[in-house]
Amino acid sequence: MAEPIIIDGKTVSEAIIDRVHAESQALIAERGITPGLAVVLVGDDPASATYVRSKGKMCERLGFHSVTHRLPADTPEDDLLALVGVLNVDPTIHGILVQAPLPGHINYDRIVKAIDYRKDVDGLHPVSVGRMVIGMPALESCTPAGVIEMLKYYRIPTDGVRTVIVGRSNLVGKPLANMMMQKRKGGNAIVTVAHSAARDLKSITREADILIAAIGRPRYITADMVRDGATVIDVGINRVEDAGAKRGYRLVGDVDYDAVAPKCHAITPVPGGVGLMTIAMLMNNTLRSARGDVGE
Ligand code: NDP
Repeated sequence: MAEPIIIDGKTVSEAIIDRVHAESQALIAERGITPGLAVVLVGDDPASATYVRSKGKMCERLGFHSVTHRLPADTPEDDLLALVGVLNVDPTIHGILVQAPLPGHINYDRIVKAIDYRKDVDGLHPVSVGRMVIGMPALESCTPAGVIEMLKYYRIPTDGVRTVIVGRSNLVGKPLANMMMQKRKGGNAIVTVAHSAARDLKSITREADILIAAIGRPRYITADMVRDGATVIDVGINRVEDAGAKRGYRLVGDVDYDAVAPKCHAITPVPGGVGLMTIAMLMNNTLRSARGDVGE
């Protein structure tokens, strides 16, 4: 088989960031609106702190207004709800993101529900999800939206294409399945969703012309589970021990890349694939919110 196309997250995310930059400059120039993102970090989880910093840096690069609220780990839920309430009515803020995971005493769903859905740049509010499912303008969940942008950028057709998604989380699998079946560009796929109750997963994944893994298990999708010529999108990000690596671990996807890639028409690597898309789509959502794309 020919060499697979490597779907490069850096190339696609940079193209999106460039577009978001150009469109936000136009919004500032024409309507005097600077997109604003508020990120709330509760506690001192080092990985979350890194994500929050990179979001701040990206806002700076794009010329967005950016505010970070760092709250102690023992912040009462009511205080966090009150902060969300303030941000909901702050006219300089168009996107509110409360970084997950939250400390155990705070109910994440309650916090997400308190965010004005028009500022829900994570696309996780029940109203955002519902609007997306029924085809209304909505802020859409960032990682699944990023997957669709990758397919579009590489001109991988989805229209009528048999697509299998392994994973049904609220964060990835469920929204992605719904987005891919929407009757629109980058959608209109024939979607099957598999999960841990699948009896013979291989027989399902082998049907896929587009196979998307969002499982959270290192190299779980092996070559025998993939049809020749399929496009494989690996959402998984898993740490595996690696004594030779500086940090003692390295990141691998849910797909056994070395064995699967030679069979594929196209494939995303990990790292360097879907992982880079999430922040680009977050910025895109902040721009869309500032522009009022979501409407009432
Ligand atoms: P979850 O753990 O919430 O969901 C995993 C899904 O995989 C579940 O639906 C589960 O089924 C299914 N599953 C687990 N084991 C099997 C199995 N043996 N066979 C079939 N299905 C199985 O994970 P997320 O969706 O949040 O994340 C998935 C992966 O994507 C992770 O590696 C995560 O790190 C990564 N990720 C990457 C992002 C990015 O690129 N920016 C963002 C978000 C996630 P069931 O529902 O039955 O339990």
